[in-house]
Amino acid sequence: MSSRKKIIITIDGWSSCGKSTLAKQLAKEFNYVYIDSGAMYRAITLYFLRNHIDWTDTAQVHEALENIQLEFRYNEHSRQSEIFLNDENVEYLIRDLVIAEKVSEIAAIREVRTFAVKQQQEMGKKKGIVMDGRDIGTVVFPKAELKIFMTADNAVRVERRFKELFEKNPNVTIEEVKNNLEMRDYIDSHREVSPLRQAKDARVLDNSNITMEEQFKIASKWVKELI
Ligand code: C5P
Repeated sequence: MSSRKKIIITIDGWSSCGKSTLAKQLAKEFNYVYIDSGAMYRAITLYFLRNHIDWTDTAQVHEALENIQLEFRYNEHSRQSEIFLNDENVEYLIRDLVIAEKVSEIAAIREVRTFAVKQQQEMGKKKGIVMDGRDIGTVVFPKAELKIFMTADNAVRVERRFKELFEKNPNVTIEEVKNNLEMRDYIDSHREVSPLRQAKDARVLDNSNITMEEQFKIASKWVKELI
């Protein structure tokens, strides 16, 4: 595998359509680094909420970003990368609905995006990377060799995210999850800076009616054609 050409794979799309599942499958198969760019926006949101940052105040945003250090560390036990915020493992905390309620608002701030995108581009310098998010194929790596745009029916997405969140918190309701997905998709696709868009050269993968194995087969065939 190592003699093969290393490429950059970007996976963008709506919330909860299985981007990270596919990204992890591909990273494992091709021995690539997987970066969950959404985790960075979620960790920044956690910092802002904990420190009562008024994110409508640009000076406060600037100062807060100066105090944020994000890092992905590989956990041998879970065999996954986990995000650290100023040396604290926040991988679990950032998945909470409290964070999901605010993350899209914070991810729409220009300074926040500049901060995150710069680090994301740095991580892709050596290629051999799969990154998922909203603007990875359009803004972060516009020259990526393989761009995938994922979609799935709304009802399927809500059901999937609900199951995931319910396992951690049985008080969560399906309405809360549905409202949150709709709100995030709206803000993410209507914001001024780097809105969620399908890149012109992206390949579309709709996984409403296919299994995880089938989606993996389709995408890995695309990768093999390029490496
Ligand atoms: O991917 P995930 O759902 O964890 O992302 C959380 C939020 O972070 C998204 O709803 C979006 O507002 C923001 N995000 C973004 N750009 C990315 C990745 C995530 O704006 N590249």
